[in-house]
Amino acid sequence: MASEGSQLVKHRGGCHCGKIRYEVMAPAVLYVLDCNCSICVKKQNKHFIVPEAHFTLLQGEDDLICYTFNTHAAKHLFCKTCGVQSFYRPRSNPDGYGVMPHCLDEGTVKAIKVDACDGKNWEKFIAENPELQQRSKLKD
Ligand SMILES: [Zn+2]
Repeated sequence: MASEGSQLVKHRGGCHCGKIRYEVMAPAVLYVLDCNCSICVKKQNKHFIVPEAHFTLLQGEDDLICYTFNTHAAKHLFCKTCGVQSFYRPRSNPDGYGVMPHCLDEGTVKAIKVDACDGKNWEKFIAENPELQQRSKLKD
């Protein structure tokens, strides 16, 4: 039996101006990564990872700008009007999505648990935490 808070609920969220809107299926208790890599520090990027199938962009595809750098694995998406990054394609799980818990509408999040992600020392961190790259994979 699933432990409390692990069942998926439907969250809705988006950017500040409202052009970007999405639905995401995720637990009510969110496991959020707080990354210390060069861009995440500047953006204070905190995100939780979901499989692609659990994310639906409702509107705003044409309003997204994509920024990449270094390995270009991560697709840093943000709204061209208000500049807010409300979701993106993370380097750790490029086949899934990283979603910003602070961009979700109120009412569906029960708790947020934050884990540090040592993106500054990426290769070492991923080698020591292989589980991280499974977060975008659908479970049975
Ligand atoms: Zn916007």
